[in-house]
Amino acid sequence: MPITLTMSSLRADPPAGNHPVVRKREEAPSDPFSPQNGSASAAPQPPAHVGGGGSASATKQSVSFTMQDGVFTLRLGRTGEEPRPDITRETLTVFEADCLAFAQEKTVLRGPLAPGQQPLKIALIAGFHGDEPGGPLACERLYADFLQDPTSYTGLELHLIPTCNAWGLLFAQHANADGLDPAASFGTGSVSAEISSLEKELTDQRYDAIISLHTDTSARGLYAYGSEDERRHNFLIHALEDAATLYPVTEGSPFEGYHATRIDPASAFPGSPRPTTVAGRTFTEILLELPGRCDRHTQARASTAAVRAILARLAAR
Ligand SMILES: [Zn+2]
Repeated sequence: MPITLTMSSLRADPPAGNHPVVRKREEAPSDPFSPQNGSASAAPQPPAHVGGGGSASATKQSVSFTMQDGVFTLRLGRTGEEPRPDITRETLTVFEADCLAFAQEKTVLRGPLAPGQQPLKIALIAGFHGDEPGGPLACERLYADFLQDPTSYTGLELHLIPTCNAWGLLFAQHANADGLDPAASFGTGSVSAEISSLEKELTDQRYDAIISLHTDTSARGLYAYGSEDERRHNFLIHALEDAATLYPVTEGSPFEGYHATRIDPASAFPGSPRPTTVAGRTFTEILLELPGRCDRHTQARASTAAVRAILARLAAR
C-alpha cells in the first residue's frame, strides 16, 4: 500500500510580508462575480465552458504526496482513479535527498481535437519554491476541471508539473535540497537533477507556451509578467480581465484582484525556465505571482481563474 500525505496536512501558508501590496484593478466591478452573471462585464468573454467558478470541481480535487517503493511523488488525482487514455503520467526524474527519494512527475491532459487539428502544447509549472503551496493547489484544480469536463481543454495539451522542488514542498523550504533557488538556476548547468531534467523537458517538448506559478508573499492581488511585446502584453491584460470577471469573489476575502505588468519574465527573472536551445521559435511565456497574503486556497482559486482565461485565449488564437 502506498503512503499518502495530502497537501492540506503538510503545509502552513507563507508568512505575510510588510511590503506594499500590488494595486487593485482600477474599475473593479462592484458585484460578486460568478459564471452566471459574468455577462455584466464588457471584458471579452472566454468560452463558457472554461469559466467554471471552481466550486463544483472542488469535490473532486486531489493532490497528494504518495510514497511507493520508497519514492515520494507529488501526484495529481486520487488513489484508485480509473486510468483513461486522455490522461498520462510521466516521471521526468528521480533524485535522492536526505536519504529519501523523490520523483518529478508530469501529468498530461489531452483535450479533444477537431479532425486534423494539432494541439497547442502548454507547460504549466509550479512549486519551484517549497514554501509556495498555491501553485500546486492550482494544478489540482485544473486537473479536477479536466476530470469534470475534458471539453474545457478542447484543442489543448496541458502538461502539468505541480512541483519541480518536491523536497522543498515536503519540508516547506524555499530552496531545493542542494540549497539552490530552483527558479533562478535554469540555463546555468545546474547540479540539481530536478532542474536539469526540467531544462531538458522544456527544450525537447517544444511547447507553444510556458506558464510558471509563484507566490509573492507580500501581495494581496494576483499579477502576471508577460512579454514586453505589445501584442502579447495586450493578450495578457485581456486574459486577466477575463479572470477578474469569472473569479467568484468570496465575501470578506482579502483578495484585491489582478493586474498585468509589462515586464518580460526573462528580464525580471533571468534564471526562470525557458527553452534555451530552440532558436527562432516563438512561444508565449507568462509568469503568475499569486497573492501570498491571501490563504493558499484563495491563491489557488485566483490563479486557476487566470490560467483558465489564459488557456481560453490561447486556444482561441
Ligand atoms: Zn516562487
